[in-house]
Amino acid sequence: MDYDVLIIGGGPSGLSTALHLQKIAPHLASRILILEKEHYPRFKLCAGGLTLDAEILLERLGLDVNEVPNVTADNIHFDFAGKGLNIRMRGQHALRVIRRNEFDHWLAKKAESRGIEIREGVTVKNIITHPDKVFVETDQGAFEAQVVVGADGSNGITRRCIFPKASIYTARVLEIITPLHGTLASAEAKHKNEHAYFEFSPVPENIAGYVWDFPTQVNGEAMRCWGIYDTNLLASEKRPQLKTPLAEEMARFGFDLNNYEIKGHPIRWFSPENQMSVPRVLFVGDAVGADPIFGEGISIALGYGAIAAREISESLQRNEFSFRRYKHRVVGSALGQTLIARWIIAYIVYPLKWRWFQILLWRFLKPIVILIAWGFVLNWGRRIPTS
Ligand SMILES: Cc1cc2nc3c(=O)[nH]c(=O)nc-3n(C[C@H](O)[C@H](O)[C@H](O)COP(=O)(O)OP(=O)(O)OC[C@H]3O[C@@H](n4cnc5c(N)ncnc54)[C@H](O)[C@@H]3O)c2cc1C
Repeated sequence: MDYDVLIIGGGPSGLSTALHLQKIAPHLASRILILEKEHYPRFKLCAGGLTLDAEILLERLGLDVNEVPNVTADNIHFDFAGKGLNIRMRGQHALRVIRRNEFDHWLAKKAESRGIEIREGVTVKNIITHPDKVFVETDQGAFEAQVVVGADGSNGITRRCIFPKASIYTARVLEIITPLHGTLASAEAKHKNEHAYFEFSPVPENIAGYVWDFPTQVNGEAMRCWGIYDTNLLASEKRPQLKTPLAEEMARFGFDLNNYEIKGHPIRWFSPENQMSVPRVLFVGDAVGADPIFGEGISIALGYGAIAAREISESLQRNEFSFRRYKHRVVGSALGQTLIARWIIAYIVYPLKWRWFQILLWRFLKPIVILIAWGFVLNWGRRIPTS
């Protein structure tokens, strides 16, 4: 079976690549195939926090995320030991939270409605590049394509086949879903239900990350999603078990970690040295790298898709598939600029792990933090060319 573009993985990065390609070059829709090993709606471990940049990219694809079950948080707190910076957006929510089974299913249906073929339940086993084709071996037969897109996430087979020896920067992440209320009926516990929290108190203990606590919904029922993210930037130091700071933070609000199921998954994060392509194969989403500071990857995955689509459509026009300039294109884009800024910030914020520095940063340097976040971390979605 022969296609122009074969996309491995039907998460946000693969679906975004297909949707943007269809938008730029509608005649290509029937020449694109997405192979997804699961069946939608499939489980994906993720807190589901969508930043405004994700919403902007979806809107520019003509998609209304309100169609997906979601909850919104009006306030986001960046705290150290319960006190810090509170972000509110004038006239709109600060964070929207979706569940990935519902969001990815919705996005896949949108792609199919625009003429893109998705084969579910097909696991890619091997990828072999030739000068004039790429061969993709799966558990259900072989496929050929002019171009292959590795959109198969942090542990993907595409990267393992193409760059088996590449260095890997991965964060460790744990997640838990709880009911809305713990056993603590204090005003503090009630107050927090409308807010999303990032708590940086684990940093002095050499956990280079934070504990999060978001509002969410599961099958329509209001819940909380908790988790802990560790970039591993302080992995050479002595660290407590990853779940210990999470358990401590949950206990402050009357939740006992031991009562809930803990799930874990790595996040591969962006570093400027990460390779992004070889002739005829390019990578998007977590397969290249998510945001190093927070592990935010949904908006980033949608952004990679927009850039990859442009690169692929131009390559097909020229009939030239070296993808030599793809990394240059990513790094030079608004997406690349935010990723590089976030990579630099992660190397400042986490290695400067002392308690006094974290307190200074989150409680006293608020105007500077907001300015940097506004200028370098957020607001990049509008500046990505999508047509
Ligand atoms: C615990 C946790 C919490 C997170 N919370 C947030 C958050 O709140 N906000 C945020 O923005 N980001 C968050 N992220 C990051 C976010 O989930 C990822 O960055 C995002 O999913 C990347 O999208 P992707 O399309 O690149 O990869 P994925 O979403 O991982 O999609 C890859 C797809 O490829 C398929 N696949 C894999 N291997 C194969 C194969 N061999 N053959 C065929 N198909 C294959 C998979 O089934 C999957 O559907 C979180 C991550 C974790 C682990």
